[in-house]
Amino acid sequence: MSIFVNRVLNMKHIKVIGFDMDHTLVRYHSDKFEELTFNESVQKLISDKEYPKEISEFKFDFNSAIRGLIVDKVNGNILKVSLYNKIKTAYHGTKVLSYKEQKKLYRGSSVDLSEAQYMSIDTTFSIAHTVLFAQLVDLKDKKPDLDLPEYANIADDVTYAVDLAHRDGSLKDAVKSNLADYVIKDEKIVNALEKYAKYGKRLWVVTNSDYNYTKALLDYTINPFLKDHKDWTELFEITVTLACKPRFFTDTNAFLSVEDNTGLMSNFDKKVVPGIYQGGNAIKLQVDMGVNEDEILYLGDHIYGDIVKLKKACGWRTALVIEELDREVAAYKSTKAISIDIDNLMEQKIVLEKLIDNLYSKEHEFGEKVAKDDVFSKFDQIDKIDKQIGSLIKQYEANFNHHWGEVMRAGAEPSIFASQVERYACIYMTKVSDFCDYNPRNYYRPSKKKMSHELNYSLPSSS
Ligand code: IMP
Ligand code: MG
Repeated sequence: MSIFVNRVLNMKHIKVIGFDMDHTLVRYHSDKFEELTFNESVQKLISDKEYPKEISEFKFDFNSAIRGLIVDKVNGNILKVSLYNKIKTAYHGTKVLSYKEQKKLYRGSSVDLSEAQYMSIDTTFSIAHTVLFAQLVDLKDKKPDLDLPEYANIADDVTYAVDLAHRDGSLKDAVKSNLADYVIKDEKIVNALEKYAKYGKRLWVVTNSDYNYTKALLDYTINPFLKDHKDWTELFEITVTLACKPRFFTDTNAFLSVEDNTGLMSNFDKKVVPGIYQGGNAIKLQVDMGVNEDEILYLGDHIYGDIVKLKKACGWRTALVIEELDREVAAYKSTKAISIDIDNLMEQKIVLEKLIDNLYSKEHEFGEKVAKDDVFSKFDQIDKIDKQIGSLIKQYEANFNHHWGEVMRAGAEPSIFASQVERYACIYMTKVSDFCDYNPRNYYRPSKKKMSHELNYSLPSSS
């Protein structure tokens, strides 16, 4: 797969490549992992928050949510929003909301995402959260006698349960004892890392996972494929665990040094040197390791925690891993013919609309009576075209997520998620191994972005 470019990035200038671990260096069977999260969170809601036992009957459906959605905690809704904060698709629980219902609820169908009632689903780790929230909303509506909390409180309870499942070891113990079920071994990632190391790139890991989990996953995914290094501790100059991103990029937390194999930790207030650490902060790491901010490229999967905050606070260069891109790009290829048909029908519709406008112009300007039959027949033709377009759009969308369509697009506009990607990620890709297909000295150049007024007139993008 390709690497996609938003901003010029000259790899000859990059001395350090830093990696997030979960969903970046280490790929997951995301559907399995989120199912585990969903089931663990259900149990925690029953045991800690007194939810009824019948919720253990809930069935997880990974495809009922995608990254980039917005949860409206107050109304029990899940929204897909465009770059201009316009709602393009909305569900109440698991039931789709009609355009009329949407308009009534969100007057003008725009949302102010800075309000506390909205929560962004911006990592794959949040899919279980969204799916569980939607099913609880359904249950509350269907069975008022269960006296479930208000929607907003349900959302907070789900956040509590998912957060605890990540922190109390229930997920991590299950993963560590069944690594093959949850974690993908990708030899190409290790090949890419060793290739970049050969070109003198210094490799770092900065993860929010703890040392024991990090070691288990890197032992499993990296060590078996190494050719030029004895193990991952030799491949990575620096490994920072429990980094507390995004605060790692903004605060000045102290480093602890971690002893390899035993995991023993000790206070560390000296100059950072190659090794394994816990906590710490980006500024000290960068200064002590003697690199400038624009000589570091950091790859992560969390648009907010790995990319947006880092970009604003540190000025490191950024790369976002979007695992959904593979499917999305394949679907663009397989729907090309449908897109052309839709464009052709739109052109026919525009011609008819112009003809109707011309008929009415004659009435307004010259007082000529409009030939009603003529107008009605043209409206009929437009109706037919709309129906054909509607059915083609359905065929098109069936190639993407069946509930939500594309991750990167909301109707004719980029999704809010895509707009953040475009704004904050210098480059983006499906997986780290996509780097294998590029020279480590590559000069990444974006294609020229055209504004509406330039589309037909300016020189081609390659000029
Ligand atoms: P990273 O992507 O390598 O930085 O690691 C992400 C870490 O955050 C993993 O250890 C996840 O288990 C953890 N994580 C993800 N979501 C949550 C959450 O909602 N609460 C607490 N930890 C989380
Ligand atoms: Mg991650």
